[in-house]
Amino acid sequence: MNTSALAAVRVLDPPPVSGAIRSVYVHAPFCTRRCFYCDFAVKVASADCGAWLSALGAEVRALEREGAFVLDDTLDTLYVGGGTPSLLGPLAMEGLLNLIGEERLQNSDLEWTAEANPESFTKDVAIGWRCAGVNRISLGIQSFHAPSLRWMGRLHGADGARDAVRIGRAAGFSNLSVDLIFGLPDHLERDWERDLDDTLSLDPDHVSLYGLTAEPATPLGRAVAEGRETLSSEGRYEHEYLLAVDRLTEAGYEAYEVSNFARPGFASRHNTVYWSGEPYLGLGNGAHSYRHPVRRWNLRDWDAYRARAEGSGPHAYRAGVEGSGLPVDDEEKLDVDQVRLERIWLGLRTRRGISLQDLPASARDRARCWVENALAVAEGNVVRLTPRGWLVMDRLTVELDANFEE
Ligand code: SF4
Repeated sequence: MNTSALAAVRVLDPPPVSGAIRSVYVHAPFCTRRCFYCDFAVKVASADCGAWLSALGAEVRALEREGAFVLDDTLDTLYVGGGTPSLLGPLAMEGLLNLIGEERLQNSDLEWTAEANPESFTKDVAIGWRCAGVNRISLGIQSFHAPSLRWMGRLHGADGARDAVRIGRAAGFSNLSVDLIFGLPDHLERDWERDLDDTLSLDPDHVSLYGLTAEPATPLGRAVAEGRETLSSEGRYEHEYLLAVDRLTEAGYEAYEVSNFARPGFASRHNTVYWSGEPYLGLGNGAHSYRHPVRRWNLRDWDAYRARAEGSGPHAYRAGVEGSGLPVDDEEKLDVDQVRLERIWLGLRTRRGISLQDLPASARDRARCWVENALAVAEGNVVRLTPRGWLVMDRLTVELDANFEE
């Protein structure tokens, strides 16, 4: 998919609403331990594939009873993220196939991604998943620098990434993505340029970049708050991001979204659904679902989610639904202002950009000012952020949105 070929986002158009949902995210919560910086919905425990499939099955049945987020007979994208899905073993994806329905996954264009970490992406897992129908792997590599991997709390060593890519390719995965983290603390002396070279030597089809942040509830967040750790300087963060954009672009990857780079034809179709405002269903603890204008999210804690879905324990649903209940934590209905803000943000974060056509004159002036400052480029009626603009994307989003309130 060439996302820059998609039309620019029209800020004032309502997001698309289709009937049934054709994109599904499934959360696999188990991790062997929690990484230093991790803020995801994780259960630190041995992976229990049977319990995972059982809870997901209960959630699917509860959704069918509710009838609000109905799945189409055919899915376009399925994304299994975590947590560490590869801890669930070789049979996990076949179990998921049976749960979602084999007939829904017969689409010859289906993009079925599963995330894996190098230390648990064994040959058996790779072959088992490939046989089930997974056709895209996203590997959590993060770095090739052993001291940085140890600092992050990752379980694989410097060679882990190379082994995992080799295993994936040998199992027949021709669509392989890797995740990298940049902006690590200066004292680690991580050589980012070398990590980029090592990444390119693996010839991945897709690269996702994540800038390190210190979320307050994480061990890293606490260490920063207590003065025991310091994040990288702003200059280093910016330098590493811009260097990555340059190197990946030179190597033939399209920067199709602020954090994502793809060889031609390898943009993530699942993530593009998120960035287009299309509807999607999230299954599992902490998973989000969206169908305009409703966004809702599941209970974040695995035990609470499972108990609610299966109708047992202190978190069980008690409103009279027989058996299990929807494990939804809460939902919101987006109002006009929220939809507009979201569409500005979605347009600015991707190569699609936003159409200037329906913007108020003051917003168009603001966008022209970005162009003068090299934060954006204008092509006809479309404005797109440059990598420098992407570094301050949140500020620019708010700045543009403010012009609609005058
Ligand atoms: S492997 Fe991923 S999900 Fe698990 S703790 Fe580390 S960062 Fe979080």
